[in-house]
Amino acid sequence: MRQTDMRLTEISTALDSVRARLAAACLAAGREVSDVALLPVTKFFPASDARILYELGCREFGESREQEAVEKVADFDGAAQSGAIDDPVRWHMIGQLQRNKARSVAKWAYAIHSVDSARLADALDRAALGALSDGERKAPLRVLIQVSLDGDPARGGVPTGELTPLAERIESAEGLEFAGLMAVPPLGSDPDEQFEILRRAHLLILESHPRATELSAGMTGDLEAAVRHGSTCVRVGTALLGSRPVISR
Ligand SMILES: *Cc1c(COP(=O)(O)O)cnc(C)c1O
Repeated sequence: MRQTDMRLTEISTALDSVRARLAAACLAAGREVSDVALLPVTKFFPASDARILYELGCREFGESREQEAVEKVADFDGAAQSGAIDDPVRWHMIGQLQRNKARSVAKWAYAIHSVDSARLADALDRAALGALSDGERKAPLRVLIQVSLDGDPARGGVPTGELTPLAERIESAEGLEFAGLMAVPPLGSDPDEQFEILRRAHLLILESHPRATELSAGMTGDLEAAVRHGSTCVRVGTALLGSRPVISR
């Protein structure tokens, strides 16, 4: 078998088993499979892997590093121009984002899952408004607030008690659409406990922001727990594409 065919077989098998895992998790939680989106996370893997996922039916992708995302978006834009792919795809920024990347990210991202400060929200609002008026995007930028479940500011995220002012600020920003909440449980914690805290925070937010229905929660290791506690989007990398190289910064 050719190298590319082998990779296709590998990713196809992995995608089938992640879809089966997600379906089983939904069934066990008494939820509809269609209520929980699978967001493949392609960070650290080449555009060719994302293209394979596209061939297998995926139309949304999660990236966590801005520069790397820009390269993959360019690859897909080229493929669309040459007619190699027909359907539009949506790119989600799921990793920590610096304010100086707001202008760039507003050009390619459908949604940002990791907004955790008013300053970042303001920068994204300005950038999205600019991109809208330049015709670089057609719809406001969807943003999710990243919630800190352990209150450790180094990991990013907003403590559950401080969500309301940021939610209101995003709601009133014309370039943004407040879509919901996201979190990554701290290492070594009990995911059921953590996702339950997140679910409660989301229910409170929904009372005043009924359209913020997204709850981005669950990854390779804990998607079942996330589905039990109301996740509407699981972000899965490792189970689809394999383990990433360890990076040191
Ligand atoms: C990398 C990443 C994921 C995917 O994690 P896996 O354990 O590989 O499935 C999910 N969410 C965020 C925020 C990530 O950075």
